[in-house]
Amino acid sequence: MANRWGIPKEVEAFVKQRDTSCVYCGQKFLEHSESRKQKASWEHIVNDIRINGIDNISLCCMSCNDSKGAKLLEDWLKSDYCKQNNINRNSVAQVVKAAIKNPPKLK
Ligand SMILES: [Zn+2]
Repeated sequence: MANRWGIPKEVEAFVKQRDTSCVYCGQKFLEHSESRKQKASWEHIVNDIRINGIDNISLCCMSCNDSKGAKLLEDWLKSDYCKQNNINRNSVAQVVKAAIKNPPKLK
């Protein structure tokens, strides 16, 4: 069983519990917010939709998701967006730090 983004149900449930704020900028999610900064979106830390374990699936705000797009995480962290929002390898959530150290791979 997978959701419409191809994410296994148990991974979806786990990540929803873990990531209550953006894994990149730390903004808390609000379910009915109109702000793109407060809306959660599914994020593959390594941009490969086949890697869909809890080490690669996370929730980030739509603002970060739009900015990151298809960029490599390491490249995106050097972008103006990240500089302006004080997002760096030390400020990101634990799951992202782990992915920087040891990028999730296809099993
Ligand atoms: Zn964010």
